[in-house]
Amino acid sequence: MELNDMNLGIGLKDSNLSILLYADDIALLAKNEKDLQQMLDKLQDWCKRWRVLINTSKSKCVHFRKSRAKPTNFEFSVGRNKLENVNEYKYLGVVFTYNGNFSTHTEALSKGSGRALGKIISSIHQFKEFGVKSYEKTEIIDMSLLDLRLQDFYLSMWKRDIINVSKLRTYVKLKTMVEQESYVKLNLSKSQRSCVAQLRCGILPLRIETGRYIGEQREERICNFCTENSIEDESHFVLDCSLYTELRNEHFKDIISDVNYLQMSNDEKLYHILINFPRKTAKYLVDAIRKRRQVVFGQV
Ligand SMILES: [Zn+2]
Repeated sequence: MELNDMNLGIGLKDSNLSILLYADDIALLAKNEKDLQQMLDKLQDWCKRWRVLINTSKSKCVHFRKSRAKPTNFEFSVGRNKLENVNEYKYLGVVFTYNGNFSTHTEALSKGSGRALGKIISSIHQFKEFGVKSYEKTEIIDMSLLDLRLQDFYLSMWKRDIINVSKLRTYVKLKTMVEQESYVKLNLSKSQRSCVAQLRCGILPLRIETGRYIGEQREERICNFCTENSIEDESHFVLDCSLYTELRNEHFKDIISDVNYLQMSNDEKLYHILINFPRKTAKYLVDAIRKRRQVVFGQV
């Protein structure tokens, strides 16, 4: 305000522009050296009054002029500190050059985008083994191909990661695509949904999981509810354990009497039931877990 009132700045159409402000960045504009120094003195007074410190090492003066004109020898100062005269200055990310030429600024932008492009290209290089060709000057990268390769890459990383988690033994068999599962869209009750999710993630309270909590070896985690001497895992729980024969007949009657089903391996059977009959699976799981709980805890 006080600087504006000095009426020194530069003429801009009908108005006078003497100061540009952005946060704590200030640019003073003046027609000549004397005016600018007066404005700097005024600014210094104001800062002193309000106990604001000007960083004079970061503050510079640019003498805007025609290319061939001589630069000023005037030594600008703020208080006792001299300000450096420079030929260009970056204000709010834009490089202003003394002759009004913005080529320095565009070069800086171009270098910045070059660096960003370099980073993109170097990250593309790591997908070479997945079929994306390396960047060469004359080659145009097919972005749709890259998109597919990135998906493949992510999928293989994801599969590699889940295969190393023992409790995801069932999940690995069922989850072949990274997409929303159909059972999520079904109108299942809360307990049905929970049982399906727990089965898939290997956290149903079966001995294969609970035995882990007490340090049992995998081969020790035998089912206590039948005489088959099998590990109580998801496959045994859904397909084989005789404790749930009645429930199986109730929910899976048509499925398990199918000739094709009988020829399947256990993994195939589990996949077939869980993927193709999610609603029946959900009902079976809720009933079977309830039955197991009744046997263990005597709950009704
Ligand atoms: Zn059993």
